[in-house]
Amino acid sequence: MSRLEWQLATVEAVVPETPRVKTFVLRLPAWQPHRAGQHYTLRLTAPDGYQALRSYSIASPPEQTGQIALTVELIEEGEVSGYLFEGVQAGDQLEVRGPIGGYFVWEATPQAGPLLLVAGGSGVVPLMAMLRHRQQAGLRNPTVLLYSIRTPDDVIYGPELQAMAAADALFTLLPTFTRQAPEGWIGYRRRPDADMLTEVLSRFPTPPECFICGPNGLVEAAATGLAAQGVPPEHIRTERFGPSGV
Ligand SMILES: Cc1cc2nc3c(=O)[nH]c(=O)nc-3n(C[C@H](O)[C@H](O)[C@H](O)COP(=O)(O)OP(=O)(O)OC[C@H]3O[C@@H](n4cnc5c(N)ncnc54)[C@H](O)[C@@H]3O)c2cc1C
Repeated sequence: MSRLEWQLATVEAVVPETPRVKTFVLRLPAWQPHRAGQHYTLRLTAPDGYQALRSYSIASPPEQTGQIALTVELIEEGEVSGYLFEGVQAGDQLEVRGPIGGYFVWEATPQAGPLLLVAGGSGVVPLMAMLRHRQQAGLRNPTVLLYSIRTPDDVIYGPELQAMAAADALFTLLPTFTRQAPEGWIGYRRRPDADMLTEVLSRFPTPPECFICGPNGLVEAAATGLAAQGVPPEHIRTERFGPSGV
């Protein structure tokens, strides 16, 4: 089956991540290996034939065979995210096509250099696939996740990211809270800016490969900021999810 053909996936589990985010674990009849950072297209069809298509990044690593995990944030008045969030449960079927994308992808090869991941909100999803892929491959390349979120309640994959950072001295988790930080928080409390990017870059022995994903504003600011700090354009890859600001 080609990656351009639609297949009917079965929802194996629905995992609440935050009050506004759920992960849907889908078993695919024609699963095929993906690259970390790729996405699937999901298609909903109403009884009258009306269809809605949306892209969702793969959160699971390529090592997880037979199934994919999609993590979806509930968007206010969102047609597809609203349907998935409210109406879909284990045992249901969803039509998907993929994996798609050949640019915003990262391979965990032994030659992989330092890695800087910058996420805004649900933009963490494809970056999580990269982190899980890196962990599965047992790589020791210096890696930082700069993760911009509004409040502690909005942190997706929080316990897993913390456990990853605790177990791996070469992986640094840098949350930045833009609206409300946890009690006693001494880390960043603002949107990623030039000073923050300078500090983060200074943690790397050599210029990192950079992947930035999230709302348009964050992606634009981080990509421009990194380029201004001298990161070569070919080291900066971006993926934009939507219009909101984090
Ligand atoms: C390559 C790619 C990968 C993506 N991966 C993910 C993912 O892993 N998880 C995920 O949750 N989303 C992801 N998205 C976004 C997703 O495709 C949808 O755009 C999102 O779920 C909103 O669809 P909807 O039908 O719920 O909202 P719509 O009915 O399309 O929109 C409702 C309203 O919300 C606004 N809106 C649309 N998208 C957003 C947004 N992202 N933020 C804020 N406001 C918005 C619209 O302008 C509109 O006003 C990805 C997008 C792309 C292009």
